[in-house]
Amino acid sequence: MATRTSRSAALATLLTGALAGTLAATGCFGAVSGGTLGTQDGGRDPAERPQEPSGAHPEPGQHTDKSIRLELEPVRAPAGLGERALARAETIVGFGPRYASKEQGQAGWTRQLSYIEAELEALGLTVERDTWTDRKELITFTNLAARIPGKRKERIVLACHHDTKCTRDHPEPQHNFEFVGANDGASAVALLLELAPVLQHGEPEATIELVFLDGEESLDWAWNDAARALFGSKRYVTRQRDAEVLGTAAPIRAAIVLDMVGSKYLHIQDELYSTARLRTVLWSAAVACGHEHRFFQRAEGAADDHVPFLSVGIPAVDLIDLNGNATWHTPADTLENLSAESLQTVADVVLTMLPAVAEEYVVKAH
Ligand SMILES: [Zn+2]
Repeated sequence: MATRTSRSAALATLLTGALAGTLAATGCFGAVSGGTLGTQDGGRDPAERPQEPSGAHPEPGQHTDKSIRLELEPVRAPAGLGERALARAETIVGFGPRYASKEQGQAGWTRQLSYIEAELEALGLTVERDTWTDRKELITFTNLAARIPGKRKERIVLACHHDTKCTRDHPEPQHNFEFVGANDGASAVALLLELAPVLQHGEPEATIELVFLDGEESLDWAWNDAARALFGSKRYVTRQRDAEVLGTAAPIRAAIVLDMVGSKYLHIQDELYSTARLRTVLWSAAVACGHEHRFFQRAEGAADDHVPFLSVGIPAVDLIDLNGNATWHTPADTLENLSAESLQTVADVVLTMLPAVAEEYVVKAH
């Protein structure tokens, strides 16, 4: 299934599905199955293994009721943050393709990991590098994580994926092309790196864990979330759950995932698998900052890195610009199609969300 066709099919499915009272289920990266929900997880009933972090997505929620809003104090990102994040995206794109699954992506993948690590360490943060080999795929992946201590130990995860889609050696010729992943990959990595020092100086209520996940993209061209994608988030959630059980890590109370946050044409959809309450916080933050025209104009589920968190009961929200994204998984996902303003917009909204998420999921939980 070709990407463009798939995405068109997805949109068509969304439209006709909405009429029929069903929803299209899509992934951020691979294509959409074009079917109704329940067809992407191989028919397995998620209830059979409720505690295993997986890509088997939950039932999507209702569209966010945009008339319901929390009164949030807008928190503005420092002036120039968007410009600096854009410069970082340029640096990252300069590393070339960045994936571990094939040789063509490995040099860039290695350079980016070193870059992320060095930038976080320069802030005085300790970086945890988790490297493992997937036993089935025989691919060695790496997640990076760094904790920004808050007043409380309970954690809020702020995550993105660092890998780019592999566009080599696919059987269909149209899936093989130059791809730099400026938005789908670099933009969110760049933004998290720029947010790190802001959060450090903001004395957050909850501990913020910045997580750079590997292997989000589907190895198959088409999105295959249950089996051949979301490797890093599944791994991360499993390890954290074990650490919590052993008492070696404080609980994760909520997760915020950023994916494709730098497009000139930024539109963060109302992502329907995300926890409803967190979507309300997100929408409220967008309105508080005056950025609502960039948010929730359209709604669709996207089985992204937040799904493994959801599958073990951790509230999670995905800030993703997939629905209607014309450059997604195409040669046009380049720096020219990013904008500093979009990165600044998302930074404002994330910074406005975080205190509200901490209040709701950490402070009130006590
Ligand atoms: Zn992608």
